[in-house]
Amino acid sequence: MFRTLFYTLTAWVWLFPVPDSAIAEAANEKAFTAARAALVEAIAADVAATGKAIGAQRLDPAVIRAMKTVRRHRFVPPESADRAYDNTPLPIGYGQTISQPYIVALMSNLAALNPGDRVLEVGTGSGYQAAVLAEMGMQVYSMEIIRPLAGTAAETLRAEGYDQVSLRVGDGYFGWEEKGPFDGIIVTAAADHIPPPLLSQLKNGGRMVIPVGGPFSVQQLVLVAKDEDGALTTRQILPVRFVPLTRRP
Ligand code: SAH
Repeated sequence: MFRTLFYTLTAWVWLFPVPDSAIAEAANEKAFTAARAALVEAIAADVAATGKAIGAQRLDPAVIRAMKTVRRHRFVPPESADRAYDNTPLPIGYGQTISQPYIVALMSNLAALNPGDRVLEVGTGSGYQAAVLAEMGMQVYSMEIIRPLAGTAAETLRAEGYDQVSLRVGDGYFGWEEKGPFDGIIVTAAADHIPPPLLSQLKNGGRMVIPVGGPFSVQQLVLVAKDEDGALTTRQILPVRFVPLTRRP
């Protein structure tokens, strides 16, 4: 009986061998998951160290959960996959970068969104920030001015299962009026002023997070809050360095 079972099992293994590549991939995924958990620890330490400036000692658990879940290694070029869980920005081509994970977590936290909220992102880039927001349960509308980057981001987001992200190629300075108004707006490229169309597409009670400053000067991450009566207040959070918001169509 044991012998029969033995032969049966070997026959099955022989008939349906698990390919080496699948084994290697499972091992990689395990390593990436561990690296992601370590990255989230590093982000938590950065948050605590900057707690005074950012007005929080720790991140919203929903942000932490999303950062632990989204596979950043899928959003960077394959040759950078082994650096995907370093807490640094990385090049994604066309002179653009995927933002530093700490900054992605911080911007997601500052926007103070709730599941189901509509959020506009200006500067899709790799699609990673959009995926983090989608993972948190937001309805994400994201605009990118460089068409090939939008194409790659669309493919990655679909492959990773983030179907609730809508993308559009265009100049995000003008926002996406037909889809507004938004509960939150996250701008991931620096402008020398806050684009008025974005302010008008922000709902009362909504928040916008945007780096403000010239490309060669220190930029400030600014939190804009619109109160229930539509009055605006702004607060400078931290010095940051983002690629510029360009104005080509
Ligand atoms: N959020 C991205 C980081 C993107 S870097 C990520 O998670 O990977 C900033 C992006 O903004 C770049 O891809 C750049 O092409 C884009 N961008 C610059 N100016 C823009 C504009 N006016 N409208 C839309 N996107 C713009």
